[in-house]
Amino acid sequence: MRRADLTGLTGLNRSTIAGLVAELAALGAVTQEPGPPARANPPGKAGRPSPVVRTCPETVQVLAADVAVGHISMALVGLGGSVVARCTAPVSDGSPEAMAALLVSIGRELMGRPEAGRKVVGLGVSVPGVVRGRDGNVRFAPNLGWEDAPFRDLVAQALAAQGLGSLPVRVGNDGDLGALAEHLRGVARGVDDLVFVEGEVGVGCGVIIGGRALGGAGGYAGELGHMTVRRGGRRCRCGARGCWETEIGTEALIRALGLPDGSAESDVVALLRVGGPKRVAQLDTVAHFLGIGLANVVNLLNPRLIVLGGLLRDLYPMVSARVGEALAGAALAAPMEQVTLALPELGGDAVLLGAAEFAWQDTLADPATVLG
Ligand SMILES: [Zn+2]
Repeated sequence: MRRADLTGLTGLNRSTIAGLVAELAALGAVTQEPGPPARANPPGKAGRPSPVVRTCPETVQVLAADVAVGHISMALVGLGGSVVARCTAPVSDGSPEAMAALLVSIGRELMGRPEAGRKVVGLGVSVPGVVRGRDGNVRFAPNLGWEDAPFRDLVAQALAAQGLGSLPVRVGNDGDLGALAEHLRGVARGVDDLVFVEGEVGVGCGVIIGGRALGGAGGYAGELGHMTVRRGGRRCRCGARGCWETEIGTEALIRALGLPDGSAESDVVALLRVGGPKRVAQLDTVAHFLGIGLANVVNLLNPRLIVLGGLLRDLYPMVSARVGEALAGAALAAPMEQVTLALPELGGDAVLLGAAEFAWQDTLADPATVLG
């Protein structure tokens, strides 16, 4: 991309962009080459060609981690969202301390694969829970069984214990990070009002309104998985009854499909992919509550786009008619006319790539701090 185009895209002035690009080039994250001469120059302007800036994903990367129920996925990600290496490991001890130590050891292994001149500049971590923005404290992650876990500090301590103490760490909510990635690089590029819904054991959501992430007073906004959609419904792990996630999350799918309790997500996905009228009928109630929850989202937030991630990627196409019926029945006409439902363009990687973008933010804001 031409450096002049970066000026236009970011709204930053030419000298600020030139300075940032020079620092990123010194770091090795980008290269600059002389660009082709401009086709037409205004009269009287010599018009030096704008340099062409290219990312170097093989040289400088961040570590991204997606902490889920039962496993951790990690990747080394270059500037521009390219995954250079990845690894998923099952979790045997789900305590915050053990998860932090496991996460760092997976990260170390990924970084340890020898690549000459590689530099890792940050670690972004996604957690399926309510995360305090200012210090990465996980206030409540009901499906992990965590309450007030100082997870950013625990990860920082594990990094120090494993000899990687200088790596800056950021911890965010899975839905927020999925929204960030789809907004920057996925199906929601150019869409400034969107909701991302990650359906797994829990239902994580991220909201971007007017191009800005909706954080709320403490960074906890957008816990749409705990909207009440069914009065007197099942008890949720948060303590309430009839939350959206108890009606459409993995466990609801397991029950609806008649799978044994405790079945793996992969078993659910396998059945969803088989499809067929019998499965569609079994999923009727789940589809209804997916539509009811989406109607609440539409009425409350007036999004242009709702991105359905996680298990919803396989569920929604199967039951879209039933979802649409419930949605149209409960949503107001005006916001309903403006919304489109979509699947994530980044597939199952939306949250992981969002964690990477989150980790890049410090470096991109001030590359000089990483250069030391
Ligand atoms: Zn709940």
